[in-house]
Amino acid sequence: MLKSKTFVKKTRSGGIMKIVREHYLRDDIWCGSEVCTECKQEESVLQKDACIESNLCSFPHYLLPDTNVVLSQIDILEDPLIKNVIILQTVLQEVRHRSAPIYKRLKDILHDKEKHFYTFTNEHHRETYIEREQGESANDRNDRAIRISTKWYSDHLNNTPTDKGLKVVLLTNDRGNKEKAEEAGLLTYSDIIVHRLLAVAIGADSTYPDLMDKHKQSALCNNLNYRHKMAQYAQRASVAFHTQLFFKSRGILNEEGFILFVRKNAIIVLIPKFGLEGTVFFENKDKPSPKLIFNEEAPSLTVEGHSFNMFDKVKVTISLDASNVQHQKIRMSLVEPVISGVSVAPSEPEPDTKRAKLDR
Ligand SMILES: [Zn+2]
Repeated sequence: MLKSKTFVKKTRSGGIMKIVREHYLRDDIWCGSEVCTECKQEESVLQKDACIESNLCSFPHYLLPDTNVVLSQIDILEDPLIKNVIILQTVLQEVRHRSAPIYKRLKDILHDKEKHFYTFTNEHHRETYIEREQGESANDRNDRAIRISTKWYSDHLNNTPTDKGLKVVLLTNDRGNKEKAEEAGLLTYSDIIVHRLLAVAIGADSTYPDLMDKHKQSALCNNLNYRHKMAQYAQRASVAFHTQLFFKSRGILNEEGFILFVRKNAIIVLIPKFGLEGTVFFENKDKPSPKLIFNEEAPSLTVEGHSFNMFDKVKVTISLDASNVQHQKIRMSLVEPVISGVSVAPSEPEPDTKRAKLDR
């Protein structure tokens, strides 16, 4: 059977174009179920005893997830315990448009013979194809197509004489879809129940029931993220605090270091002895700036004719700048190479008595 749809469309240049879209509907698309005697299928995908080892669903059933359930529960659908699932062409197409990685995972499941997932080409089936109604959104049309197919499956399998009470359960997260499906007398599981049912089926629910509560789970995640962030702040602050404590009791130190990076107005120096990194700035508010030439390519920084390159050895003084009590910091100043007006004199070692007192 051929269905054709004709409509006119305005082109960009302002002309009117007539479009005829052809859609073939067929009578030879089978349901894929082992219990069916009506369909002339050579081999069936959906099993006769389709029972998940779950106490929530005692009767044999096939699951029929809508698009959102596939997108949000693909992990569970991949679980080896979940078998005998009907994937509608409508759902497959929507998933393909919305997420390439999940589409790939769904295709992998469909190819897995052990999983008994069946693709039903409802868009080409004479009894399940529907046209979009006037004023109906594409989304609503697809939801309706999914309900029509679920209904078709239920009726089709109930017509089968060998049927042993096999049911088709529509899985949907969408409240509107669920309500409409219930009006049509279809079995549905909605919202979190979808997740719970599937989670119970794979044995995740028995461990910790609260974990299955969406809001509790969300609150738990927020709390974990908050604590993690605060722990990181505390960690950084603690390192800075103890570094400052360490240098506070040692006065001004002269140490050897190596240049890690050069910047436009500074060099970053690593002091291997302490594993400490610090910045030597060449621009100072109180003094006139020295002549700086920064070469981004090298990279190098030339200060009053002396070039600094990465890994050059330098000598610096290290001290704690406590001028701002709220924001104490480690200061580094250049000692060697000696550059007039830039480098500072090395600090004199402090008398032992004073040092011993500070160390206490
Ligand atoms: Zn059939």
